[in-house]
Parts: sequence; structure tokens; C-alpha cells
Amino acid sequence: MKKYTFIFAGAGLSSLMTVYEMIQSGLFSEQQLLLIDIDPKKTNDRTWSFWEKVSGEFDAIVTQKYESAFFKSQKYSRKLALQPYTYKSIRGVDFYKSVFDLISQQSNVTFLQAKITTFSESKDGVEVQTSAGNFHGEKLFNSIYNPNLVALQTKYPLVQQHFVGWFIKTKEPIFTTETATFMDFSISQQETTRFMYVLPTSKTEALLEYTLFSPDLLKKEAYEKGILDYIKALGITEYEILEKEHGNIPMTCYPFWKHNTQNVLHIGSAGGWTKASTGYTFKNTTKKSKEVIRFLQNHSDFRKFHKKDKFYFYDLLLIDILYHNNKIGSTIFASMFRKSKAALLFKFLDEETSLWEDLKVIWQCPKMPFIKAVLKRLF
Ligand SMILES: Cc1cc2nc3c(=O)[nH]c(=O)nc-3n(C[C@H](O)[C@H](O)[C@H](O)COP(=O)(O)OP(=O)(O)OC[C@H]3O[C@@H](n4cnc5c(N)ncnc54)[C@H](O)[C@@H]3O)c2cc1C
Repeated sequence: MKKYTFIFAGAGLSSLMTVYEMIQSGLFSEQQLLLIDIDPKKTNDRTWSFWEKVSGEFDAIVTQKYESAFFKSQKYSRKLALQPYTYKSIRGVDFYKSVFDLISQQSNVTFLQAKITTFSESKDGVEVQTSAGNFHGEKLFNSIYNPNLVALQTKYPLVQQHFVGWFIKTKEPIFTTETATFMDFSISQQETTRFMYVLPTSKTEALLEYTLFSPDLLKKEAYEKGILDYIKALGITEYEILEKEHGNIPMTCYPFWKHNTQNVLHIGSAGGWTKASTGYTFKNTTKKSKEVIRFLQNHSDFRKFHKKDKFYFYDLLLIDILYHNNKIGSTIFASMFRKSKAALLFKFLDEETSLWEDLKVIWQCPKMPFIKAVLKRLF
């Protein structure tokens, strides 16, 4: 059986980002790395958007940048100045290509296209079984999400960020190129938390995404009707659909890290790297992958990797509320966005705020649902 120091189960965002950081650090050039994915990662299976304060290490592949963004509720509309942050988008395929180009220059990193069927721990590492044979790794990074972990328990509810997006081209100019729409809650809520997310790329082109934060998925036609209604409300009569995308991102505080062992670290959505209250994963993954490199310099037992903090608790409360009382989501987000500066909200969502700054954000939210959620968790 061929032996490696590090095996990566899955070669999506979190694995490629971790390998990228390993290569950049120059600390792992003597070790053998194996990336295994069922997919060759050559198509644009998703576009990642995220905010960043300064110029970022992936700026060369950023396709769109926004300096401002709309937030809309049924009661008000606000244009947020994002400075000192910029909201950026990266196409998945560009990210995969840039990391695979870097990997192709390394003699110690191998990519294997194969299906992983299972892995098991042995006394000196981990054995990974795949459709192309078995491999031994001293350590395994697993990014293959196992939905059963969350589904088979009730302590940590699962809210899903589910969406269908159409990338459209209109005949007449209609979009404001430099302004994204983070959340447009002016659409009919139907007792659930739903909004439109709009990313214009020119005056005539934009991604329109009908998005829900809710426990249950909808039928495909319901998302598409939502997009069609929105197109009509914008006054667009002539347009063509250039591309479609859909997604379902887990929003949960399930403690995935409990499954980390001495030699197996769960990463990406499978490791709880998705911010539970927003579904954003890209930014957190850039941070976590750097943390992995720092960790490996001093430790070898992955059970010590995870640290719980106050932000986990905040997310836990919001997810509890969205799960048990989904219809009040728009009220919560509308109160958060009503007065706060975008910079403070981004800092809070990046989990970089002080307690005083946390209170400034939390104080804007309706108090009763949060008090009830705290009491329910405590007792
Ligand atoms: C359409 C879409 C849009 C998104 N947009 C954003 C966004 O704008 N901003 C943001 O921050 N986050 C976004 N996300 C959420 C998150 O960033 C992504 O899901 C991200 O790709 C998660 O990274 P990951 O490494 O956990 O999983 P993935 O990138 O999905 O990687 C897992 C890999 O495992 C492979 N795999 C699965 N099963 C097997 C198997 N049995 N054998 C071998 N390989 C296997 C898959 O092919 C995949 O390549 C989006 C998600 C989706 C789906």
C-alpha cells in the first residue's frame, strides 16, 4: 500500500486551501501529500463571495468587487458603504486552476481522481479505501461532508441555506454594477426566512439568487417562481439566462470537531468551518487553513485543534431561533442591518469583535427571542 504523510479526502475549497498554505509555508516539501477527489475539479461548480479588508492573496482571480451593498427589508432600504472592506467574488474554477497550477510545480503533491469509499484508523495512521486502491496516510484531512451526523441527532438543529441562482443578461441596462444586494427581504416571506441576493457584473448582467435560511428545502419550481417574480418586480421584460446554480449549505452548530481524532482532522463544511449563522465558508477557510499550518508546527494530535469561543454561542442561539421560529428571520436581520455600520457587522461575522462591539451588534436585535433561546439552552 502506498504511504503518504498527509492524505486529503476531497479536493475542494478547504483541502486545496490547506495544501496551498502548506506549499506557501515551505515547511512540508519533504513530505508526501495525496489529494483524492471523485471530481477532476475542472468546472465552475460554484462562485465564492466574501469580504476582505485589504488586498487579498487571491486578488489575481477575483472577478468582481463591490464597495457598497444594499440591504432591503419590508420596511426600509439601506445602501451600506463597505469601507474598509470590499466584497469580492471568485469563480470556483479559477481557484481550482490556480491551486492545481501551483501543485503541478511540486514533486511531493499528487492528485488522484477516485471515489473514497471509507477510511479507517490503524495504530500508525489512517487507511483510505478508494475506487483506485487503498492508501495509507500518517494524517488524514477529511472534507467529505457526512449529512447523517447532523440528521441523526436533535441537540444541534440544522437550518439550511438553500438557493437557486440565475445569471441573467437583460436587454436594457438595469443593474448598478458597483453595488451588490446582500439581502432583499422585501419579497414575500411566506412564514419562512427568504431573500434575494443580487450580484451584478455589468449594467445588463447579474446573478439573482432566491435564497432561504430554513429547515426544509423547496421544490425547484418554487425557487424559480421566486426569481421570475423578482425579475418582474425589477421591471425586466427581456432577458436571457446565461447560467444557473443551486446550493444547499449546512447552517448548524453541530460540533463536528468531536469526530477529530489524533490523526484525522475534519475540515471545511465537514469540520464545522462554515459559519453557522451565515453559511459563508470561504473567508473562514482562509483563516482555518493558516491555523492548521501553525498547529502542525507544534502539535500532532488533531483532537487539540478546535477551540470553542463566544461566537459559537451567538451562532447557536441564532440557529435555534431560525429553526424553531423561522418566520422572524427577516425581523432579526433587518434590525441588525438598520443602524450598524457594515464594517462593524463584517468584523462581528469574522469573529474579530471585542465584547463591547458584540453588544453593539446584539443590542440591535429583538431581545425576547434571544432571551428565550438562552433560557432554553441553559435549562
Ligand atoms: C453553489 C454554492 C455557492 C456557494 N457560495 C458561497 C459563497 O459565496 N461564499 C462562501 O463563503 N461560501 C459559499 N458556499 C459554501 C462553501 O464555501 C462551499 O460549499 C465550499 O466549497 C465548502 O468547502 P469544502 O472544502 O467544505 O467542500 P467542497 O468544496 O465541496 O469539497 C469537498 C470535495 O469532496 C469531494 N467528494 C465528495 N465525496 C467524495 C467521495 N466519496 N470521494 C472523493 N471525493 C469526494 C467533492 O467532489 C468536493 O470536491 C457555496 C456553496 C455552494 C454549493
